[in-house]
Amino acid sequence: MSASLPIDPERQRLVNAALLAILPERCVLSAPEDTRPYECDGLAAYRQLPMLVTLPDTEAQVLAILNLCRELNVPIVPRGAGTGLSGGALPLANGVVISTARMNRIVRMEPLSRVAVVQPGVRNLAISDAAAQHGLYYAPDPSSQIACTIAGNVAENSGGVHCLKYGLTVHNVLRVRVATIDGDIIELGGESLDAPGLDLLAVFIGSEGMLGIVTEVTVKLVPKPEKARVIMASFDDIVTGGNAVARVIGAGIIPAGLEMMDRTSVRMVEPFVKAGYDTDAAAILLCEADGTALEVDEEIARMTEVLSNAGASAIAVSQSEAERLRFWSGRKNAFPAAGRISPDYYCMDGTIPRKRLAQVLTGIAKMEETYGLRCANVFHAGDGNLHPLILFDANKEGEFARAEAFGAAILALCVEVGGTITGEHGVGVEKIGSMCVQFSSAELSAFHAVKRAFDVHGLLNPDKAIPTLNRCAESGKMRVSAGLLRFAHLERF
Ligand SMILES: Cc1cc2nc3c(=O)[nH]c(=O)nc-3n(C[C@H](O)[C@H](O)[C@H](O)COP(=O)(O)OP(=O)(O)OC[C@H]3O[C@@H](n4cnc5c(N)ncnc54)[C@H](O)[C@@H]3O)c2cc1C
Repeated sequence: MSASLPIDPERQRLVNAALLAILPERCVLSAPEDTRPYECDGLAAYRQLPMLVTLPDTEAQVLAILNLCRELNVPIVPRGAGTGLSGGALPLANGVVISTARMNRIVRMEPLSRVAVVQPGVRNLAISDAAAQHGLYYAPDPSSQIACTIAGNVAENSGGVHCLKYGLTVHNVLRVRVATIDGDIIELGGESLDAPGLDLLAVFIGSEGMLGIVTEVTVKLVPKPEKARVIMASFDDIVTGGNAVARVIGAGIIPAGLEMMDRTSVRMVEPFVKAGYDTDAAAILLCEADGTALEVDEEIARMTEVLSNAGASAIAVSQSEAERLRFWSGRKNAFPAAGRISPDYYCMDGTIPRKRLAQVLTGIAKMEETYGLRCANVFHAGDGNLHPLILFDANKEGEFARAEAFGAAILALCVEVGGTITGEHGVGVEKIGSMCVQFSSAELSAFHAVKRAFDVHGLLNPDKAIPTLNRCAESGKMRVSAGLLRFAHLERF
């Protein structure tokens, strides 16, 4: 657990006065009782009281805050709803939080061109709710969609259950408007499928608040499918379940969702949500088909056959929309359900090639013994995106440190089998050490160069996501690859 650093009262008074000169009083928070709710995001193990919090209502106010912070050399932490799971919105003791949550208007909905233009603080689910009257919706659906904002989704390149078929945030955002640290407004992308010039939109999506403040987003909308049904398939062992995922995709089927939960997660969710899960199974798979009624029935029949041949011990298919939503409600509530069986949990997020699922799940089971902690596995199996939930008790001496070491070992295994250290939750402060495992010093230097191109002063969300090379050398997180030490040229202290 991180300890909060003290705030310099003189500096706080000075910056507060400067902010109050350009913003209405209700847009600036300085008292600890007001700033306390901003001390962490969804990764509550890391906390820091911010020096100040700003809540702009308009893009002009965002620009004014950026100009002032640049002039006074104050670092900035952008924030949406604070549901992030990697500490991306963790404040700084000498920094100002810019929360864009109040900028929550849907600017316009264009059903004919199937786009929506929204302010940064619009919640993910609110876009689909507003588009429903036109028979449309916004496809990326993080389980936190009731609360998380579109700017947070852009910054993390968020995914969700339906991203296997419909793509991640990066595939569903057409344009972003960004306030830069130099006080300019830039637009990346455009309202058509391609935009002239370098694809800076793709560079910006997933940049974790380090390149600019999102002030407007244009998203793609897709037609709501006529029908959807979901299969719940049970497996007697997790390896057979993992292999079944590869078999479904190998059969040329792209399900609308393909999720897996192991016995620990099924048993923690079922009493909470009563989703109708098979609590005797070692693992269950949820496979959704959507489209026209004919397409859905045909795909359900094909998936049923593949899953049976892959060794499913039982198969149930949703018989109504209510039952389909019930099957999904268990998966969507898996994280909160962890709180029922453990005082604390640490949610990891690594991605691996699908064919390695069984191998990695077996490796995680072994690590449970090594680290003496339980782990519930719930994940976007079709994307190979794992979410091991490491269960621990922060009040027990050393358990959090063991949970962190367990998490880092899972991520190292993901890299070893050809995967990555994050699928959708971002690097933030949580996985900054694991970046040294994944990338060489040359690659990290290139990331720093991109950051400098947008933020030469290094004021936007500093010390997140991209480790300094010396940090990698110091932390000893160096891998010997082909007989070469990755950070050997750096001095160690
Ligand atoms: C229960 C639960 C379930 C979750 N399920 C999923 C899931 O299925 N898939 C998934 O991908 N994630 C999931 N998440 C993680 C989280 O919800 C996403 O990362 C989400 O996109 C964060 O949005 P937010 O508005 O809360 O952003 P925040 O947490 O406030 O910020 C996230 C990052 O975005 C940056 N940021 C915020 N606003 C701006 C802005 N205006 N301009 C520039 N940068 C900005 C911040 O600096 C930070 O780096 C889950 C979280 C929880 C708690």
